[in-house]
Amino acid sequence: MADLLHPATIAVTAGRPPHEPDQPLSTPITMASTFIAGGEREYGRTGNPTWQAFEAALGALEGGRALGFSSGLAAVSTVLDLVANGATVVAPRISYSGTLLQLADLESRGRIATRLVDVEDTAGFVAACDEDAALVWLESPTNPSLQLADIETIAAAAHQAGATVVVDNTFATPIFQQPLRMGADIVLHSATKYLGGHSDLLMGALVTADDSLWDVLKGRRDLQGAVPGTLEAWLALRGMRTLHIRMERAQANAAEIARRAADHAGVAEVLYPGFGAMVSLIIDGDAAAADRVATSTLLWTHTTSLGGVESSLERRRRWAAEAPEVPDSLLRLSVGIEDVEDLWDDLTQALSNV
Ligand code: PLP
Repeated sequence: MADLLHPATIAVTAGRPPHEPDQPLSTPITMASTFIAGGEREYGRTGNPTWQAFEAALGALEGGRALGFSSGLAAVSTVLDLVANGATVVAPRISYSGTLLQLADLESRGRIATRLVDVEDTAGFVAACDEDAALVWLESPTNPSLQLADIETIAAAAHQAGATVVVDNTFATPIFQQPLRMGADIVLHSATKYLGGHSDLLMGALVTADDSLWDVLKGRRDLQGAVPGTLEAWLALRGMRTLHIRMERAQANAAEIARRAADHAGVAEVLYPGFGAMVSLIIDGDAAAADRVATSTLLWTHTTSLGGVESSLERRRRWAAEAPEVPDSLLRLSVGIEDVEDLWDDLTQALSNV
């Protein structure tokens, strides 16, 4: 049934208790470290009804079966753990710094080899998918340059080479992009961002439509213990009930901010992929000028992270781990669901400090 429903309906209805007399309409928070023996769950590290409700909702939205993790990076490390010793991972040259740090860490210890390719260089990605490639990592749109990967073409080349394809779908969310339907084997989320949507939790997730791959990933989670908190899973599920509404409103605001910023004298370049609610502005000035903008807004919060109902911004290169190719004066904007006129007024007063 879920396959026939639209995302807005799935977001509201999936992962609910059964429609039976006296069942709660909303999934309860089941705080439990252990369960009465004889069932499938047994111990609190191997499953929890509240996590499973979150997983049912996200799985239905992405078109697969989901698993919750303690953070997005815990989900990243679970996928990278599947790569055989000495095998090659093909990944974008510029993407989320935490993922790139994990790849560099594994490579420096001789665990894996990496091949980094510009994410928009589809031919380069296809060429990198040779018989050594075991895993192809994609992020689209990328953090923080908001570049897009040709997921279908790269996934087809990866599969011909026998590689597994993972797509970090954190920025697009299943409302705008469903990578499993485009050929990906695994979808990854930092549920900390849009899925939760209220800047009040840390959580990650993996989704796959392949039952045997799901078993392997679940086995890694059981063994390594990077499980979500129960309150976090409940908050994320509650956040997902409004995912479609938040994404539509935030996207409308982001598109308008991107359009107006393109004509602003303080902005050298606007990076916006045409959908979603992330916008990056390359400020027409140095790092100090961009910092002045980031620290002089009144409504936009100067903070890292993204995907909340609240608009926020930061200069990404203030982090030492950010890729050196990212311009020093790039401000990454996470556009929220406030009134766009108020957001624009505040941004223009801050941009006057350039
Ligand atoms: N993937 C992307 C695209 C991210 O932006 C982030 C965090 O910023 C992560 C993964 C990691 O998620 P978490 O912070 O929940 O560990």
